[in-house]
Amino acid sequence: MQLFSHPEFDAHETVSFCFDAAAGLCAIIAVHDTHLGKALGGCRMWPYASEADALTDALRLSRGMTYKAALAGLPQGGGKSVIIGDPRRDKTPELMRAMGRAVDRLNGAYVIAEDSGTTVADMRLMAEVTAHVGGLADEQAVAAGRTGDPSPATAKGVFIGIRAAVRHVWQREDLRGLRVAVQGAGNVGYRLCRHLHEAGAQLWVTDLHAPAVERCVKDFGAVAVGMDQIATLDVDVFAPCALGAVLDDVSIPAIKAKIVAGAANNQLARPQHDRALMERGIVYAPDYCINAGGIIDIFYEGPDYDAARVDAHLERIGATLTEIFARAAAERRPTGEIADRMAEERFRV
Ligand code: NAD
Repeated sequence: MQLFSHPEFDAHETVSFCFDAAAGLCAIIAVHDTHLGKALGGCRMWPYASEADALTDALRLSRGMTYKAALAGLPQGGGKSVIIGDPRRDKTPELMRAMGRAVDRLNGAYVIAEDSGTTVADMRLMAEVTAHVGGLADEQAVAAGRTGDPSPATAKGVFIGIRAAVRHVWQREDLRGLRVAVQGAGNVGYRLCRHLHEAGAQLWVTDLHAPAVERCVKDFGAVAVGMDQIATLDVDVFAPCALGAVLDDVSIPAIKAKIVAGAANNQLARPQHDRALMERGIVYAPDYCINAGGIIDIFYEGPDYDAARVDAHLERIGATLTEIFARAAAERRPTGEIADRMAEERFRV
C-alpha cells in the first residue's frame, strides 16, 4: 500500500493508523490541513473490502473537509476518520471508546464528529474519553430540541443548493413539479426528500434498505426505483445521497438530469469526471460545497446557538454555488475546478 506516494495523499499533515486488539478497533485518522484551524471531520464506519480502500476513502474524505470548511467560510481545517467494520454487526461501546482514545492521542489536531455508519450516541461514548468531539448538543441544546445530528442542516443546505442550481439553469424560483431522483434515503436523503416534497417537487427514490424507500413512498408519494436505475432516470435533478464515486465513465454518459446536486461526499470517481459532466452540459454542484450544512451547524453548536444565524450561513451555500456556476460558465471551466480554486484561495496561506 502506498502512503506518501498515494494518488490521494495530497500533502496530508498527519495520517494515523489506530489499532486496539481488545476492542477490535482498526481505524485510520487523516488530518489534511490545519492552516485555518483544527481539523474537523466525521467518522465513517464501513466494512471496506480492503485496508487500501479504507485508506483511500479516509484521504479523499479528509481533503474534502479542508476544501469544504474553507469554501463554507469557517475557521477550520480538514480531517476525517474511518473505522473498518460493519456498523450493524461490529459496533460496540468499547469500540467507540477505543476510537475516542485514538482521537485523544492527537491532542486536538483532529475533532471527530458523526458520519455515515456512526451516530450521536457513538459520539457520546467517545466523549467519555476525549474532549475532541464536535457537534454534541449540550443539555441546553437538547432542551431546545437539537440533538447534535448534523443531518438536518446538511439536508437544508443541499435543498438550498438545488434551488440555486435550478435558478441558474432555468431562472426559476419555484420548485413545483421539479423532478428529482434521490439516491440514498438515509439521514440526509430522507430529510432532503421532505424539503423537496414540501416545495412541490416530484420524487424518485432508491436505497439499499427497502424500508428507507418505503418511508419516502409513504411520507412523500415518492416513486420507488431500483438501485441501478436511479442515476439514469429522465428527471431534472439527480441527487446522490448515499456513498461516493457515483459519477464515473459509466454513469455520466447515461445521466439525463440537467443538474447533479446531492449530499454524498466525493461523488466524482476521478477528477476528470468534473469536466466530463460539463461536456455533457450537466450542471454539477460540487459535493463539498453543497453538503457543508452539517459542519456549519456544528460550528455554531454551543451555549450561544442561534438558529437564525445558522440559517443565514446555510443560505450562503446557495450564494457560493451561484458564484461557482457563474464563474464556471464565464470561464468555460468545470464547476469542481472553480470550487477548488475558490477554496484554495482561502486555505493556502
Ligand atoms: P446514511 O448512512 O444515513 O444514509 C445513506 C443511505 O444510503 C443509507 O440508507 C444506505 O442504505 C444507502 N445506500 C448505501 N449505498 C447505497 C447504494 N449503492 N444505492 C442506494 N442507497 C445506498 O448517511 P447520511 O448521513 O444520510 O449521508 C449520506 C451521504 O452524505 C454520505 O456520503 C455522507 O458522507 C454525506 N454527508 C452526510 C452529512 C451528514 O450531515 N450526515 C454531511 C455531509 C455529507
